[in-house]
Amino acid sequence: MRRAPAPGDTPGVDETGLDDDAFARLTRALDAVPDGVVIVDHAGREEFRNAAAERFRDARHSEALAEHAVAQLLERAGRGQPGERELPLFGPPREVLELRALPLVADGQVLGAVALIHDATDARRVESVRRDFVANVSHELKTPIGALGLLAETIASADDVEVVRRLAERLVRESERLGRIVDDLLDLSLIEAQAAPIREPTPIHVLVDETVERLGPLALARGIPVRADPIPEELVVACDAVQLDSAITNLLDNAVKYSEPGQEVHVCVETVGDRVVLVVEDHGIGIPSRDLERIFERFYRVDKARSRVTGGTGLGLAIVRHVAEAHGGEVTVESTEGEGSTFRLALPLADHAAGVAEAS
Ligand code: ADP
Repeated sequence: MRRAPAPGDTPGVDETGLDDDAFARLTRALDAVPDGVVIVDHAGREEFRNAAAERFRDARHSEALAEHAVAQLLERAGRGQPGERELPLFGPPREVLELRALPLVADGQVLGAVALIHDATDARRVESVRRDFVANVSHELKTPIGALGLLAETIASADDVEVVRRLAERLVRESERLGRIVDDLLDLSLIEAQAAPIREPTPIHVLVDETVERLGPLALARGIPVRADPIPEELVVACDAVQLDSAITNLLDNAVKYSEPGQEVHVCVETVGDRVVLVVEDHGIGIPSRDLERIFERFYRVDKARSRVTGGTGLGLAIVRHVAEAHGGEVTVESTEGEGSTFRLALPLADHAAGVAEAS
């Protein structure tokens, strides 16, 4: 990739003025760059290709498209024209590459050209997730805001006191729903922003008992008993207690929300290897198997109409999944339509989490 030494050259030094060591350092440095770098001389002959660009050499399938596009850009850059383009590769895996080529000029003369290949897959994915999220949020807020406006208008023109009272009650319910959506969105964005939550060793029974004590009486008032098995005090998880409380509350709240009077909800904790698993089991409406994959997505609801009645936001399980992942755990579900659902939130036991943190 460097020209052979010519008579008269200083040994170990070429026309770049770099000795062999300096050249080796430069090569290593460019190999450490995550972007692909390809350099050609004034005649378009390849002089250098770093490690990241190697995968495109003699490539087949979609990577060959990238090599071809790079060659075109380099050819134009060799004639003094810089250029850039975005190249989607349909994979698998799907990728988006940003390609750029620049002429290398000294004293007004084009000495060659350099091409840069940047993997923009993650950046594009994040942009698209954000776009979808904003669109979803706007859509989700539009409905209750529209309802509030309509109710207020109707109240303004209603004479009957009884009608006004009923509409006002609906107005309150809609505004509470709006409040819950905003609260859940704030919770979710806080959890997402906090990539690595600060974890304190917390006995899991403290969190579970507190949630059962808080939600149990409300559930019972709806005719749904919540039965919680005693949890051994020595089961400690390293967690952000506020986040975990939010996850447990969402799971228990759902179990009650999607049950009918007389259907018991059961809460217990199991240990599986170095993990503690919180199990929330209900005998309610269950979830159709086609929806199981999607219920952890933001705003996904199996039955929008029912969710409206129960006051759901469609964000609860997205929060649970984020909390689980942020704590190195996971949440899973088994469900049969018409028979009930069992959610399992698995988290590493505190000793194990500390071991992992020390090892890393
Ligand atoms: P929501 O606020 O609507 O309850 P979630 O994100 O908590 O939102 O749940 C998403 C959807 O998953 C719910 O709308 C519901 O259709 C379904 N779901 C969640 N938990 C249960 C459960 N225990 N039983 C039946 N369906 C459930």
